[in-house]
Amino acid sequence: MSRPTFPMHVSVFDARAMLAALLPPPVAETVSLSGARGRLLTADLAARVSHPSVTESALDGVAAREADTWGASPDAPLRLRVLGESRAGQPFTGTVGPGECVRIYTGAPLPTGADAIAPVEQLAEDGPAHVRLRRPARRSDVRPEGGDFRAGETVLRAGTLLTPPRVALAAALGYAEVPVRRRLRVALLSTGDEVREPGETLLPGQVYDSNRYGLAAGLEECGCDVLDLGHTPDSPAALARSLAAAGGADLLLTSGGVSMGRYDFLRDLLLERGEVAFWKIRMRPGGPAMLGRWGGLPVFGLPGNPVSSLVVFGLVVRPVLTGQPPRTLRLRAATPFPSLPDKTAYWRGVVSGGEVRDYGRQGSGVLRSLGEADVLVVVPEGRSAVGVGEEVEVVWL
Ligand code: AMP
Ligand code: MG
Repeated sequence: MSRPTFPMHVSVFDARAMLAALLPPPVAETVSLSGARGRLLTADLAARVSHPSVTESALDGVAAREADTWGASPDAPLRLRVLGESRAGQPFTGTVGPGECVRIYTGAPLPTGADAIAPVEQLAEDGPAHVRLRRPARRSDVRPEGGDFRAGETVLRAGTLLTPPRVALAAALGYAEVPVRRRLRVALLSTGDEVREPGETLLPGQVYDSNRYGLAAGLEECGCDVLDLGHTPDSPAALARSLAAAGGADLLLTSGGVSMGRYDFLRDLLLERGEVAFWKIRMRPGGPAMLGRWGGLPVFGLPGNPVSSLVVFGLVVRPVLTGQPPRTLRLRAATPFPSLPDKTAYWRGVVSGGEVRDYGRQGSGVLRSLGEADVLVVVPEGRSAVGVGEEVEVVWL
């Protein structure tokens, strides 16, 4: 092979940037909120209303004047006259004066004059028109108007991923439709003579296509449309046909056929007849990934090893497709985690009691480890090994 004219052994960070550079620029579309989960907002969303829309009660109980109720205790319950009730949607229209209260329910408007709530658990009925309080009414159980957000306030920002709680928030802001990034259309292809569909009978040496199913699920989670191209044998002609079938996609994601083996034809095809943006990422698992182009089609070649393929997807491809960096946090190491020369290590770890320990079997073929581990423990390139008791960065699986 002649000297490569493309970068080799790129960092995880550069791999993401190079993939992002090959993808088409974002296009916005408007979708109904009911189909918005997993999509990326393309504009800021300002609240169309305040929440709460009025000052209201956070509890079921009575609304009273805090200063009147200071003395209330189990030994000396305070007697208040009940003027009426305030319900969500049906406010009490009078005014609460000294020694008076109004029955109130969660979300009901606080009547004029009242500034505090005593919960129903602290009340005793005292005839038809009075209650007794066993403790003082509290202002903290009043929700002020706009205490959550005020009309006009920007609450969700462009670029935000619409997770279920954010879908709820967009609804609360008053949006039935939201502007989101058009879904990327991602073609998906597995390579390998030995690869079979789950459910088929396996001959010795064959393997079920786990990568394609895991990656398709991951792509759906990223809000992409998946064009499933199935799997293709290790033959340059078959591969070239599959590459042609991916035409029109924004990206082709492949697994297998990009390492150093004699039958790694995808690597050869891209090297000889396509373009290569990089080959190999300084990470483990996942080293031999490749990014290139076939005609105008960006091709990200994931390694065939099941763990490598899903880890590179999660740490390099997913952050680009979603525009969100991986979610990390810091935990105390309960076992040591080695460093690797010139590579960032992502060790599978198990979390319990605020600590993370080594999952154990770290081979790239041990797929069950990804199902059983909780996190990937990051030991960045150039750092020394992590000792017991030290803090480490972890990425949720
Ligand atoms: P390769 O990168 O093509 O050399 O494949 C490396 C290893 O991953 C081999 O053991 C393959 O059998 C396995 N492998 C390749 N593709 C898949 C797949 N789609 N699902 C599960 N294992 C695979
Ligand atoms: Mg292969």
